[in-house]
Amino acid sequence: MLSEDTIVAVSTPAGRGGLGVVRLSGTRAIEIATHLIKLPKLPLETQRATLGAFAPVESGRVLDQVVVTCFRAPHSYTAEDVVEISCHGAPIILRYLEECCLTQGARAAEPGEFTMRAFLNGRIDLTQAEAVRDLIESQTLYQARVAAQQLEGSVSTRLKPHKQVLLDLIARLEAGIDFAEDDVAVIEWQDILTRLDRISADLEKLVEGYEYGRIVREGLTLAIVGRPNVGKSSLFNRLLNEDRAIVTPIPGTTRDLVAETANLGGIPLRFVDTAGVREALDEVEKIGVERTFSAIADSDLRLMVVDASEPWTEDDTLLLEKLRPLGSLLVALNKSDLPPQVTDVAPGFSPARFSPARAAPSLGSELALSNAKGQALKGGATIPEDVEEFVQGNSDVGATPPEIVRTSALTGEGIHQLKAKILALAAPTRNIGPEGEFITNLRHQQLIKNSLAGLAKARQAAEQQTPHEMLLLDLYDALRPLDLITGATYADDVLDIIFKTFCVGK
Ligand code: GDP
Repeated sequence: MLSEDTIVAVSTPAGRGGLGVVRLSGTRAIEIATHLIKLPKLPLETQRATLGAFAPVESGRVLDQVVVTCFRAPHSYTAEDVVEISCHGAPIILRYLEECCLTQGARAAEPGEFTMRAFLNGRIDLTQAEAVRDLIESQTLYQARVAAQQLEGSVSTRLKPHKQVLLDLIARLEAGIDFAEDDVAVIEWQDILTRLDRISADLEKLVEGYEYGRIVREGLTLAIVGRPNVGKSSLFNRLLNEDRAIVTPIPGTTRDLVAETANLGGIPLRFVDTAGVREALDEVEKIGVERTFSAIADSDLRLMVVDASEPWTEDDTLLLEKLRPLGSLLVALNKSDLPPQVTDVAPGFSPARFSPARAAPSLGSELALSNAKGQALKGGATIPEDVEEFVQGNSDVGATPPEIVRTSALTGEGIHQLKAKILALAAPTRNIGPEGEFITNLRHQQLIKNSLAGLAKARQAAEQQTPHEMLLLDLYDALRPLDLITGATYADDVLDIIFKTFCVGK
């Protein structure tokens, strides 16, 4: 299925750089390249870099020294003849070289067309083509490793045995129908059910793993929320500084919403530092607060920062009550390097929780706690336990209690635990297996679900021992979506199995 036309594109990103590459693919790639580049000897050697000079035909003058690498079909990325011309990375030269290629009869490549040709020519399957895109877009090494595994065909490798079993079943049933009088071994209903169940169990696992795969591929957003001065920005910077891997200011963010991305255990985590979460004074501020809240609600996770060296305030309570129903909440009791000073607790607090009898055995800090009316509750309670209890238990909302971590943005205490908790909350199925043992692509997940639906119907048909013709329809329904992931199963494949693996006789 080699294409007629030869395509060309600048394959390196726009902008100046040490090097820039123009890539040609197609039947005329070598001819066009050798026409434009002066080379010491021809023909070009395969898979060897050759020094040449880019000298446009009209002027004959040398514009740039280049390195030409030629890959002859089918041993190339696209399985066609491919020539890569490395120039110095001057955008003007690269564009001019591309234009010269166009003048010589090449066509400008569409986005992704090199990879599409690799797919159309059978060099890679669809999952691998998709992995190329993910690899290019990866922001962390972990993401890149996952994409690289898929580029090597991990998704197809995982699905292939299931496709094989389905094909095998289909082939046997078809054979039973077509060659009924030839004594084709009849497959037992129980045998069919066992096979179908085995496939379903594994496909179910893949579908479940997608939630984690999606996080790996797309990353997560964490909103950092709290009263002014509790240490939000400091914690935000701590979390970023420890992993400098990615620091991308997101354009379009406003003064009160700063977003940056850090690499947390290989998962890109976008922190949204929110300010101004307090009762709005005027209309304009109200809009700002509403926007902040929708950013908080839209985030995958929320981190509420509390200044543990200061009294718990009503604002903290209000904030907590707004955050808890949103779920996925962590609370950082920050400034843990300072002596804790809770002298007042939030309204709604039940003093019973802080009864001296319960608090007394704890670590003996000299805290003075007071109830809502300001009565001191002396008794040597330690803050973290009590605030934890409050934070986890005060709200009537049925959401799971938030996790609490003591941190100091100043000394770095607790930052490690905080990250671990963020990761645990963000990606609870992290221990899902090595890279490549999960799917990262929504398209794949949906197709696998479709296949599961087909399998469920087939199972029912087998249980009810419906005629093979009917069962076959369901089996094809289960197989087709898998084909759409890995590439088609042709009717020939089924015939092949019928004639090769079964002795049909005659
Ligand atoms: P934000 O308004 O919540 O973003 O708070 P900032 O991060 O700007 O911090 C407010 C003040 O608290 C600054 O002076 C910080 O240096 C200080 N601060 C932040 N975190 C800590 C901490 O863990 N311990 C101590 N002692 N001071 C902190």
